[in-house]
Amino acid sequence: MVNAGTFVEPVIQQVHVPAGVAGPVELSFDVRCFLVGLPDGLVLIDAGPAGSAGEIGAALERVGAHWSDVTDVVLTHSHPDHVGGLGEVAARTPGARIWAGAPDCPHIASPVPLQPLSDDDRVRDLRVIPTPGHTKGHISLLHEGEGLLFVGDAVGTLSGSMMRAPAQFTADAAEAERSLRRLSELAPARMLFSHGPEVTDPVAELRRLLNGNGGAGGN
Ligand SMILES: [Zn+2]
Repeated sequence: MVNAGTFVEPVIQQVHVPAGVAGPVELSFDVRCFLVGLPDGLVLIDAGPAGSAGEIGAALERVGAHWSDVTDVVLTHSHPDHVGGLGEVAARTPGARIWAGAPDCPHIASPVPLQPLSDDDRVRDLRVIPTPGHTKGHISLLHEGEGLLFVGDAVGTLSGSMMRAPAQFTADAAEAERSLRRLSELAPARMLFSHGPEVTDPVAELRRLLNGNGGAGGN
């Protein structure tokens, strides 16, 4: 690998869901997975929707890496826009271990056995923070040294503002809210969202969202 030290390379794709599939209107949104380079490994966070291998392969090229450099694949949760590409990814990374939050493991179709993750487990330098609500086994990942927090779908951004995941895709809204409060207490320097670009002061923005008593983006 060309890159040394810690780095984050996003893999950004656009997803179109036709009207009638997930509600009456057509949905179009970005979905991100991340390559995280660490001193002792290369971690892929989420496998993207089905057909993602090309875009992930291009991201590997951008950082001077190969599929065989991927040591771990960590799935934030079981939804298809995050795990649909797992079969293609697993076929290209036979040496990698594939991890997911323990309660979501039974809901993820995987060609290889999944390694279940629980509170305070670690995948290399990434600490597992269970953030249930969106799904029962949803996890976030914290790199304490770099202040990086990968939040999956616990929260996202749209047009520069933070917003909750849409209600129709969230299993338990009250639990999701408790998870957001836990994330706000971690005070990371950067939050990386599976949907939407980064914002400049994510902790202040998240506290604003939590204190706003619902409001825009709540459903
Ligand atoms: Zn989701």
